[in-house]
Amino acid sequence: MKFVDAHIHLSDPEYGSKVAYVIEEAKKSNVVALVSNSMNYDTCTRNIQLAEENKGFVYAALGMHPWNVTNLTEEELQRTRDFILQHGVNREKVVAIGEVGLDPQYAKRREIKDRQVTVFKEMLGLAEKLALPVIVHSRWSASKIMPLLTSYSLRGVLFHWFSSPIELLPQIIERGYYVSEGPPTVFSSRTQEVITHVPITRLLTETDGPVSYYGPFKDKMTTPAFIPQVVEAIAKIKNLKTDEVAEHILRNFSDFFGIKKPVA
Ligand SMILES: [Zn+2]
Repeated sequence: MKFVDAHIHLSDPEYGSKVAYVIEEAKKSNVVALVSNSMNYDTCTRNIQLAEENKGFVYAALGMHPWNVTNLTEEELQRTRDFILQHGVNREKVVAIGEVGLDPQYAKRREIKDRQVTVFKEMLGLAEKLALPVIVHSRWSASKIMPLLTSYSLRGVLFHWFSSPIELLPQIIERGYYVSEGPPTVFSSRTQEVITHVPITRLLTETDGPVSYYGPFKDKMTTPAFIPQVVEAIAKIKNLKTDEVAEHILRNFSDFFGIKKPVA
């Protein structure tokens, strides 16, 4: 069985010097590819470096996270935009725009809320221009995000760690979007419920590392080595064989990101 991590932050300073170990753990667990997401300019550059050093295994998603909009200067936004336009054409390394979206918890003031929308739209514009799929952060904001997406011609949309009302899922699926879920699939009834509403043909697995978890993952450093347990939990929920689920997810990963190699 082969596994994939569609959403991790290898560029996070918390991984720092442990990146080589994290990659080694992933490979030992039969994880064959991962998409390392960006938060700001610095993590965009780091992810390109990691994709360069780990060709065909680490792929970069470039973008500006809503958490970083509050103190974002026009100069950094411009620099990030230029960097994405320059590197986003390299399909060997860059496979998505992410992590981008809206987060009301990080926008108490109206002015920040508006700025998050402006930056998100800018990122969607880049995704359209570069014909790259988008990885969306939609915590408590999916209903606000949904109408924004339709203004762009997007190659694909992935709702990572879906935590908005379940009622939105039918529309998400109808529009052809994907959903990725991670370690909480093993221990959270809410995540398990999300899984029941997403067809296996639209599901991806993730860790969102270095975020840490409860349940069997408590006090452990999050690495893509958690993915086999996530796949096993999905198989149980969907009443499918584990290898069947792994195969589906590998194919979804390949289709969504346009990465041919992991399936070959
Ligand atoms: Zn993330």
